[in-house]
Amino acid sequence: MNLILMGLPGAGKGTQAEKIVDKYHIPHISTGDMFRAAIADETELGLKAKSFMDAGELVPDEITNGIVKERLAQPDTKVGFLLDGFPRTLAQAEALDQILNELGKKLDAVIDIEVAENVLVERLSGRFICKTCGATYHKLFNPPKVAGTCDRCGGHEFYQREDDKPETVRTRLKVNIKNSEPILAYYKSQGLLHEIDGDRKIDDVFKEVDQIIAK
Ligand SMILES: [Zn+2]
Repeated sequence: MNLILMGLPGAGKGTQAEKIVDKYHIPHISTGDMFRAAIADETELGLKAKSFMDAGELVPDEITNGIVKERLAQPDTKVGFLLDGFPRTLAQAEALDQILNELGKKLDAVIDIEVAENVLVERLSGRFICKTCGATYHKLFNPPKVAGTCDRCGGHEFYQREDDKPETVRTRLKVNIKNSEPILAYYKSQGLLHEIDGDRKIDDVFKEVDQIIAK
């Protein structure tokens, strides 16, 4: 089966991707891995992508799309694939349709793991650090044993990195939401979109993912 997995940062997409791959033995194709492989193999497109990345510039769509096409043309995708991190824009979604068409493949489902923005902010902005010894904690996942006291050094003063602050996280999420909305609408109009409530236990989320794939 040919799948796309979508979800905002913090929604648990990576965990679900692992579970899908473990059960169905399809290749997990993430944009990051694809770029790393193309650069390591020094393919023509990989080298082009690298020159943009080295210059601190965004890799143009035609290069990204080319790398995706090369990856999807490899024989291990005969049994299917799980695309993760692509498409990121509506233009890429349209390009993907064309790529799949050229390769004689088609998408079976797009699974979107949905978690409310406020919950994601809680998850993503929970990290704080002891001012004295640098020990890191997370409000939800790894709080100190005694609230307000560092387990390691007994210090009481903590700080948050700029990236971990709720307002920074919220801004980053808003950008992600804005970018993903047209993609989700595109797949919805094609009847491919499955929206799953991701604010549950990992196994409960996977049960639903699994039912969609099994269909
Ligand atoms: Zn400490």
